[in-house]
Amino acid sequence: MNLLIITLIAGAGLFIGGRWALQRRKTEALMAAPLPAEHRKILRSRVPIYNALPHELRKRLDGLINRFLAEKKFYGAQGFEITDEVRVVIAAQACLLIVNKENRWFKTLHTIHVYPAVFTSRMARVEGNVMMEHRPVRSGESWARGPVILSWDQAAYGAFAAHDGHNVVMHEFAHQLDNETGVTDGSPLLDKDQSASRWAHVFQDAYARLRADLEAGRANILDPYGATNPAEFFAVATEVFFERPRELREEEPALYGELSAYYQLDPAEWF
Ligand SMILES: [Zn+2]
Repeated sequence: MNLLIITLIAGAGLFIGGRWALQRRKTEALMAAPLPAEHRKILRSRVPIYNALPHELRKRLDGLINRFLAEKKFYGAQGFEITDEVRVVIAAQACLLIVNKENRWFKTLHTIHVYPAVFTSRMARVEGNVMMEHRPVRSGESWARGPVILSWDQAAYGAFAAHDGHNVVMHEFAHQLDNETGVTDGSPLLDKDQSASRWAHVFQDAYARLRADLEAGRANILDPYGATNPAEFFAVATEVFFERPRELREEEPALYGELSAYYQLDPAEWF
């Protein structure tokens, strides 16, 4: 009897170990494979930031895109057709965030839902005894532990207009990274060599400056939406970090430094 149990446990262990090794080999193969020529062609014409990447990073991004397309499922909303173009353009922008973050992956995200254009989101709140419903217009949404919801026209335009500091895909996927701690609060999981207290200090400082600038009617490189709360601030700062890196480095050097350490990237040197 005991021998039977031991044999069963050992068998299950071998089975799980075997499956895990197989999965790891599959992932490694996807990461090492070049991007199919038709996918590269899409990126060359629709995602200018792809062309600006240093060779080594582009190679890593290619692998991540292969893996993303193999593991994440895309669904079209309101009859929207999911084409290769839709999948590749979205995957490239999402994966850019983790291109140099060793062993980081959008683990809890399994699906991306794509609307043809901006969509309305149903939100409810209770006021006294009354349930109030409102339907804000959205270009994207990120839910805790996935999914991400996007409007295709905004996702495509965001990719093409690479230097306007607005990118809905990066914004929503920055929320996904932020949520790795279990809470989306603008304090993502930092790397070992990053100081949490310095991160908090730099972000609180820049956040307060954005709010003060807004109140005083002064210009700030960050979109006013970033003043909503610290989670939106991190997502908005991420968009500007990738799309207007030199100006961000000039105007908010400490913030640029923390984001550069977090993403392990220096986009100010790409353009
Ligand atoms: Zn947001």
